[in-house]
Amino acid sequence: MSTSSNSRPEKCPVGFHEIIGQQRQTGMLAVSLQKKEVPHAMLFTGEEGIGKKSTAINFAMACNCTHPRPLADGAAFSGNVNPCGDCRPCRKIASGIHPDCYHVKPSGAHIKIEQIRILCSSLALRPIEASMRMVLISDAHLMNAESGNALLKILEEPPEKTVFILTSPEAADILPTIVSRCRHIRFNPIPEDLLKAYLVENHGMVAQNAMVIASMANGSIGRALAIKDDPGILVHRKRVLEQMEMIFRKPSGRDLSFAETISQDRKKIDLTLEIMKSWLRDLAVSRYFPDRVCNRDVKARLRDLSKNIDMDGLIKKTNAVWQAERAIKGNANARLAIEALVMKLSEQSKTS
Ligand SMILES: [Zn+2]
Repeated sequence: MSTSSNSRPEKCPVGFHEIIGQQRQTGMLAVSLQKKEVPHAMLFTGEEGIGKKSTAINFAMACNCTHPRPLADGAAFSGNVNPCGDCRPCRKIASGIHPDCYHVKPSGAHIKIEQIRILCSSLALRPIEASMRMVLISDAHLMNAESGNALLKILEEPPEKTVFILTSPEAADILPTIVSRCRHIRFNPIPEDLLKAYLVENHGMVAQNAMVIASMANGSIGRALAIKDDPGILVHRKRVLEQMEMIFRKPSGRDLSFAETISQDRKKIDLTLEIMKSWLRDLAVSRYFPDRVCNRDVKARLRDLSKNIDMDGLIKKTNAVWQAERAIKGNANARLAIEALVMKLSEQSKTS
């Protein structure tokens, strides 16, 4: 693959069966390979870190693999459409050095027109060795109008034996004229139990920590691995949960030392607000639906606390967290917003 810098190299899973939580999506691709009806352009949407890029790379491998294998046991059909991962094209594509696979990603804040122009001139030539070239455009929503229109021109007259795969969080952020030329495949957040099993089996984590990380990752393997690689996050989460519980059990009116701890580290503010929202949500569901609690390691404490909870107060507190989040995103003074939030969390507390 060619073009552009920044992200750290990740090991790509090999084979559609290795892509967690996206069976329907990879199944659709496998069917298109088996029927030899590969769309010339696809749009993969969904959150960061849920397998869009890995799926694209596996699709490129499957299109070029010299020894494709059957899908895993239990697949809907038995066609040999799974990339082997061992042949020359597979290895080159997986390691990002195949001359006919292009990876365009934002350079700075945008995908620039020059990047699309360079791509166009490469695509005007014949493929060097691939039976099917792949152009992966990551974060396609970061194309500006110029680069979007330049890409549209290629999609309107697509070169032969070339598949374009665009990725983006949402289709709505991309020019509708581009979306209409793509087959749109939506990727799902990965269920927590699959994430947990992945962390235990592939990263040797103990089940308890894997469960906590899975609950914090919002369905994203990328986010789960980022949390795993920063043990400070788990320590921080523990502190926030303890503090939230204390505020609820013994509302003091104002607990500014908590506010200070949170707002000291700007990078941790978003994480803290996420932790608060998930804990408050758990508190709301835990009395009647204890199995739906996300923070399962503190399930018993939540259950106990929820026995006397004032539901209206809880809704107000949750709204206060959303409000603080919006204010901070809108560039309000983070310290003041967090102080106001902590006061609201404390003042409105009623546990009896
Ligand atoms: Zn292969």
